[in-house]
Amino acid sequence: ELRAWHTALRAQFPIIAANPELTYLDSAATTQKPRAVLDAVHAYLTTSNANAARGSYTWANQTTALVRATRQRVKEFLRDPVPERSEVHFTSGATEGLRTVARDWLTGLLADGDEIVVPFADHQANIAPWLEVRDLLARQGVRVLVRAMPYQPGSGDYEPGALAELVGERTRFVAVTHVHHVYGGDMNVHRIRQAVGPDVPICLDAAQSVGHLPVSMAELDVDFAVFSGHKALALPGSGAVWARNARGPRFVPGGWDGTPNTSGIASLRAALDWLDTAGIDRVERWTTALAARLTEGLRQLDPYEVLGCQRSLAARTDAQQRRGIVTFRHRDIDSGDLGFVLFSEGFMVRSDSHCQGGGGEKQNSVRVSLHVYNAPEEIDRLLRVLSTLE
Ligand code: PMP
Repeated sequence: ELRAWHTALRAQFPIIAANPELTYLDSAATTQKPRAVLDAVHAYLTTSNANAARGSYTWANQTTALVRATRQRVKEFLRDPVPERSEVHFTSGATEGLRTVARDWLTGLLADGDEIVVPFADHQANIAPWLEVRDLLARQGVRVLVRAMPYQPGSGDYEPGALAELVGERTRFVAVTHVHHVYGGDMNVHRIRQAVGPDVPICLDAAQSVGHLPVSMAELDVDFAVFSGHKALALPGSGAVWARNARGPRFVPGGWDGTPNTSGIASLRAALDWLDTAGIDRVERWTTALAARLTEGLRQLDPYEVLGCQRSLAARTDAQQRRGIVTFRHRDIDSGDLGFVLFSEGFMVRSDSHCQGGGGEKQNSVRVSLHVYNAPEEIDRLLRVLSTLE
């Protein structure tokens, strides 16, 4: 049943259909786009393209309505329990989203002696903006202490116990990631909230979860969720910040003071519609199963070591398991060379340092990241090619 579902959906990706000899395995960097998304962009640009919140003619009004409707759509997609109160602000992606939260919101919150807790080994986009806030405030004579939260790749989560020690009286803000972009584990956000306590705002980098698995603001007690539209089947240059506005000052971004990426916003609305129709829970099951298939296959191959979350085999019902991201390395072959060999066989993977902060083992590894268009046959063929490399 899932199989037939997948076959029908895969056929809806023109770039995949047009390139049967190629296998795209870099969806954590950006996803491919279904026809419905491309059609929605075409329809927008050929029927009502105008600037938003500017003119009083029909196209301008339609564009303004599109932006407003997409804000509501994002809230709905994220299962926002109190949409009257929250804000959605469109950005070019998660990097700009996190930077916006840092610059436009966090900076005004912090006073001398305050502390913030931020990740240490996550994506740079979720580290650099918080350090920049600290440095900016330091130049104004305001000292903010940044505490780094260690990540434990093997468990697919932050280090148990570490959080409770990092959070104290002066903690004003915590930044975390939902699904790690290299190790593929999803973090136990409930446990993070418990450790942090009820009053401190939490910002969730959901770049690798929104569009990949159900992400519910009704369940996750966080204050910001930042994601990239382009990693969720929408156009490059699209993304959003969702702000709950329940703790700390209100987040009121200047949404209308520049020209928004209206075609990107149109694409995001269509992508969220498409994902809802496809069933985000099935997308999650599909990509998680493919990742488990690859992880299990790699474990049978002697020269390979899978990095990160080791739980895909044992605990399928455990919240902390590997999502559609598998990073591995070969005992002897450099990851750049491995990427080159794989591309000569038609596989497009990521092979470098994966934009990660902190130190350690992620260097010199190859990352395979999956979405709904990927097929079990692609995983099996990848494993066959990998098995020929001693
Ligand atoms: N956070 C995470 C966890 C990511 O994986 C990425 C993209 N690799 C980003 C942030 C940055 O997203 P964007 O490129 O859309 O700015």
